[in-house]
Amino acid sequence: MKLFIAGLDTETNTFSPIQTGLEAFSENLIAYGDATERPLNCCSSQMFVWRNAARENGWAVIESLCAVAEPGGKTTRAVYESFRKTIVDDLKAAMPVDAVMLALHGACVADGYDDVEGDLLEHVRQVVGPDIPIAAELDLHCHLTDRMVANASMIAAYKEYPHTDIEIVAEQLFRLMERTLAGEVRPVMAVYDCRLVSTFHPHKAPLRGIVDRMKAIEGQDGVLSVSFGHGFPWGDVADVGAKMLVVTDNDPQMAARIAEKFGREIYDAREEMRHDYLTIDVALDQALAARSGPVVLADVSDNAGGGAPGDSTFILRRIIERGIEDVASCLYWDPIAVRMCREAGEGAKLDLRIGGKVGKASGDPLDLTVRVRRIASGITQRFGPTPLSIGDAVWVSAGNVDIVLNTLRTQTFHPECMTALGLDLATKKIVVVKSSNHFRAGFEPIASEILYVGAPGALQPRFDELPFTKLAKPYWPKVDHPLMDQG
Ligand SMILES: [Zn+2]
Repeated sequence: MKLFIAGLDTETNTFSPIQTGLEAFSENLIAYGDATERPLNCCSSQMFVWRNAARENGWAVIESLCAVAEPGGKTTRAVYESFRKTIVDDLKAAMPVDAVMLALHGACVADGYDDVEGDLLEHVRQVVGPDIPIAAELDLHCHLTDRMVANASMIAAYKEYPHTDIEIVAEQLFRLMERTLAGEVRPVMAVYDCRLVSTFHPHKAPLRGIVDRMKAIEGQDGVLSVSFGHGFPWGDVADVGAKMLVVTDNDPQMAARIAEKFGREIYDAREEMRHDYLTIDVALDQALAARSGPVVLADVSDNAGGGAPGDSTFILRRIIERGIEDVASCLYWDPIAVRMCREAGEGAKLDLRIGGKVGKASGDPLDLTVRVRRIASGITQRFGPTPLSIGDAVWVSAGNVDIVLNTLRTQTFHPECMTALGLDLATKKIVVVKSSNHFRAGFEPIASEILYVGAPGALQPRFDELPFTKLAKPYWPKVDHPLMDQG
């Protein structure tokens, strides 16, 4: 057997001012055929699983491009087209292959391509023809388009958020590919559109129970795989929204039935899953009233992991204006401020303009007199088992407010992005992190309480107010009963 593998992973926030070009990929990962010989990157981990499993089977593995960028605005056309050409050319050179497995995101938008993954899968399908199985693993924050489903043979998305099961799903998908190649199963897919645009949290009820039941039927009675594509709300594309995907063994009617059953369950539970994001001042009041600290405040609107700039100042400004102390806040993507601190040196006191630099979603910059406490490079923070760089970093203090600035745009995953600089979080009343939910795995053990704040920003979470121009169907929470409204 000969298996062809490749990966392309970035999530596109079409409302973000950040351009995603070659530099954005370069500072994360561009590997031309050797991603699995380099250190583990969270987005190349599927390819490690597939390569190792294939080699254990004695299969030949042809590894093509693996390109990963921090989520941002649209990918530039030239970059996407060059990546696609690399993958397609490598595939043509590798033909004939027995199977293709692709590690994709599912919510990538490039200039001229609203459905990058659908376009890539279509190009791959054209090369291999109708009979060679193509598998794709997607982030659950995917748009899950008809074009993807039409051109892939089997698709599975992660089920957990934080995404702790990327490798588990990769392994399941490999076993499904193995059975397909052995002629034991013939995967067919069906999708159900839930007409919901929101974020969903599988760590709590009612979604936890639904996801557990999705898992329980996998491998039973001809059901091969069940995925809930949460959707990625900040993509202005026709296919934005939550979808249920079911893969069965050659039974499209059953796939459609089960997709509808689970999709309707999620639809029916929508009000229960509505999030209450606190305003900045209410969140600060609640944190100050807590008996013990630290209370972790999630600045979900400035999550670089969803394409936001990562330098917004809305929450920090209120903390300073209100004179709140014993606060730590991170990570502020501000290479200019980092450079000024580096020039000044550890221990220096200086007037520093922090954040608010990238665009309107960043708010206004904040002018503070700060003390440079620590300057460091080589600091990493764990995302699951993978240590990820935060670039160069500086810890500055404005009175009793500690702020971490860095040079590599990334969300806050783990306390070690602060503790590695020497910051002691146990003494803090409030810790502000720029992240939507991935911070939970790292911060839950140290937090007395976690509060989600709906500040302004590129990922503002009032989904009924998102300025969609391409979504033609009614959706919740814009309307209360979108399925009924459609008849
Ligand atoms: Zn995701």
